[in-house]
Amino acid sequence: MPGQFRASAQLTIGMEHNVDLHWIEYETIDDGTIALITLNRPRQRNAQSRGLLVELDEAFSAANADDNVRVVVLRGAGTSFSAGHDLGSREHLAEKLPGPSQHPTYQQFGGTRSGVERMWGQERHFYLEKTKQWREIQKVTIASVQGPVYAAGLMLMWACDLIVADSTATFADVVGTRLGMCGVEYFAHPWELGFRRAKDLLLTGDSLSVDEAYRIGMVSRVFEPDQLVDSTIAYARRIAELPSVASTLIKNQVNEAQDAQGFNQALSSAFMLHQLNHAHWQMLSGGEVTVQTEQFGGRARAEQPPIVPTSKSQVRADDPVA
Ligand code: ZN
Repeated sequence: MPGQFRASAQLTIGMEHNVDLHWIEYETIDDGTIALITLNRPRQRNAQSRGLLVELDEAFSAANADDNVRVVVLRGAGTSFSAGHDLGSREHLAEKLPGPSQHPTYQQFGGTRSGVERMWGQERHFYLEKTKQWREIQKVTIASVQGPVYAAGLMLMWACDLIVADSTATFADVVGTRLGMCGVEYFAHPWELGFRRAKDLLLTGDSLSVDEAYRIGMVSRVFEPDQLVDSTIAYARRIAELPSVASTLIKNQVNEAQDAQGFNQALSSAFMLHQLNHAHWQMLSGGEVTVQTEQFGGRARAEQPPIVPTSKSQVRADDPVA
């Protein structure tokens, strides 16, 4: 790793607030001017458990509070930046279900309520509001991305100001084709992908290659896989050299333009449709599930459609013409 860095298993925020880190690594390099936040569940392809998300919020808060930090790099250990929300690992079930290992936040933010109110409260806080807050921290943020980035993996990446990726990166939101859902909780798709492309990708579940993502402007730089770490840091250093007043105001200026287009209003409306979609599956299943499953008309996991790159999923010439 170039530059001097200090890795931390404990994060100090303010004067007295110490946080133990299990799922995240937090380091600073270059005399503290660049913060590196690493999602560190490589065996689960950095699937986002509650514990990971809470620690990630602490790491963003620490970087935001630290006046030495000018640029924040968010990256994932292993072969994938983040494969989305953790829906079923043993660790996730332990933190979610009642018992000694339950994460305390499942008893907060609507977690003790019932019906629509419970899911609304939990998802609003942890998926919508937190992602919006990370977008708005007063540092320039760079997502450094490799491997398949699916569904909620996109949310984390999109919360950052800049996205750099290597040639192994692919991007897809498969919640429509696999879970009977209209999108993830932070519905930035139309801005990130373009309005018509957003519909295409959500309705087909197909994936974008890194080259396509670069072409449509979602990805800012493409690096070779063995150079992703060093090239990301070199890129971060260029930005850290700007006067912080300029870099911060550039960020805010562009975000304000997006907000003036109705970004936040659209996020709120989409979140309500997302909750309506969950309520649909809860009603049909008598409260048993919150997304479509095989029992309620979905496809078995083995029969789910493959995630195909858009460039390889063209309609064949010999397909019957209606
Ligand atoms: Zn949801």
